[in-house]
Amino acid sequence: MTTQSYDLLIIGAGVSGTALLYETARYTDIQQIGVIEKYAAPARVNSLSSNNSQTLHCGDIETNYTLEKALKVQRAARMLASYCLAQPDHEHLIYPYPKMVLGVGAQECRLLRERFELFSPHYPNLQLLDQKAIAAIEPAVAVQANGQLRDEEIIALGSTDEYTAVNFEALSRSFVRRAQQVEGKTVDVHYNENVKHIRIEEGRFLVETGSTCYQARALVVCAGGHSLKLAQDLGYGLHYSCLPVAGSYYFTPQVLNGKVYTVQNDKLPFAAIHGDPDVLVPGKTRFGPTALILPLLERYNLATLPDFLRVFRFDRRVARVLWDLFRVPDIRNYMLRNILFEVPLIRKILFLKDVRKIVPGLRYRDLCFARHVGGIRPQLIDKTQRKLLMGEAKIDTGKGAIFNMTPSPGGTSCMENAEIDMRAITKYLGAGIDEQAFRTELLGEDSEHSFADFTGRLLDEDSRDAAGRLRRLWRRFRRRESD
Ligand SMILES: Cc1cc2nc3c(=O)[nH]c(=O)nc-3n(C[C@H](O)[C@H](O)[C@H](O)COP(=O)(O)OP(=O)(O)OC[C@H]3O[C@@H](n4cnc5c(N)ncnc54)[C@H](O)[C@@H]3O)c2cc1C
Repeated sequence: MTTQSYDLLIIGAGVSGTALLYETARYTDIQQIGVIEKYAAPARVNSLSSNNSQTLHCGDIETNYTLEKALKVQRAARMLASYCLAQPDHEHLIYPYPKMVLGVGAQECRLLRERFELFSPHYPNLQLLDQKAIAAIEPAVAVQANGQLRDEEIIALGSTDEYTAVNFEALSRSFVRRAQQVEGKTVDVHYNENVKHIRIEEGRFLVETGSTCYQARALVVCAGGHSLKLAQDLGYGLHYSCLPVAGSYYFTPQVLNGKVYTVQNDKLPFAAIHGDPDVLVPGKTRFGPTALILPLLERYNLATLPDFLRVFRFDRRVARVLWDLFRVPDIRNYMLRNILFEVPLIRKILFLKDVRKIVPGLRYRDLCFARHVGGIRPQLIDKTQRKLLMGEAKIDTGKGAIFNMTPSPGGTSCMENAEIDMRAITKYLGAGIDEQAFRTELLGEDSEHSFADFTGRLLDEDSRDAAGRLRRLWRRFRRRESD
């Protein structure tokens, strides 16, 4: 068995692992960085472009986010957008589409009006859209099957001038490329190497794949649900159980121009289905994702069943959490419905009903189940707190090893999550960070973002249109400047 040594070793070359690779290569003085990835290329699992909804979550239209969570995601989204827009090939990484969250019926419309009051000071581009304004952006949303305007009250919160979609697969490749261009450092990415086992000897991490034993002073595992398995092998995170939730999609002909989300049922743990353009499938609209509990850590990969059984760690406390979920009627119906969404023949009928909330005129024959599209969200159950955790989870051992589990919005948060790990690992290794470059390039502290905050704080509702135009000019000016 051969041996290779690194200061920092990252396991997993999805968007989380590659973002950390880029940030540590570009902004720290860590000299030797290695990545181990079991597939032949980056982003073959959840970060694959077809396996997620490709949404850059900013928090304004995600009604399942509180303002606090939304502002956290907004910062993460800005970091990611700053990186993408600075790349010469940014039009293959990040995409501007209109976006909105649609309220249908008096109750949802009231909720959106209230949300607008609360959120708009922080989101200067956010507009409250009435039926006519919705029709101007998304005609198919505003009319019913007979071509008349919808009978029920609808309202939306949205914007037309923002970057809203990301190809996380292309982004992962970009991170790798850019990290390998940093001069004077060792940046190795080892593909086709499956980490089987990790040991700790004399404070060093020994990471074994079939043929090689990698040694590292620090270790960050970004391997989706497998992160928990590797953590538990070392005795960490034993109070967690992993509940894999798969998402499926349906394609229709292009009925939407941008992203249309719906108001979240606050009793449900997962985001409601939405309609999106697929950045790699022009001329179609993709609806989903559904939420189906599957006993696998990777979609369409039966070999990950034993790994699931190890991280599921089923016991009375897990049963209790599942039972608590199941006995809420909304959740129970939702779970059963999501099982039926996978059953051929009836799945289209059921899904059509849900999707007509967004596009009332859709027909049965318009829907086509998207085969091999959609990944698995590794949701964690905290057995001690007896609850299902939403969003990303991290186990930081404080001894040079970090394990990341990254369900949605893990794509959007990849750079912010990498920042947290970069800071923890540099501290552990006694290394330094080029704070100025980091803040200027990713946080835009002296440029676009201070402008956004400035306009957000100063402008009242009537001036937001002008702010939108100013912002476009500002971006154009900045782009020309950087060219
Ligand atoms: C249906 C769905 C919709 C989503 N929509 C969105 C969205 O719209 N916006 C958003 O921001 N996020 C979204 N997400 C979440 C997002 O896709 C993930 O958070 C993100 O892709 C996670 O990236 P990752 O690098 O952590 O994991 P992954 O992309 O899964 O990468 C993990 C990597 O680790 C490797 N690996 C695993 N085990 C080993 C091992 N033993 N040895 C070596 N390598 C290993 C794998 O091969 C893989 O390359 C969605 C997720 C799903 C499932």
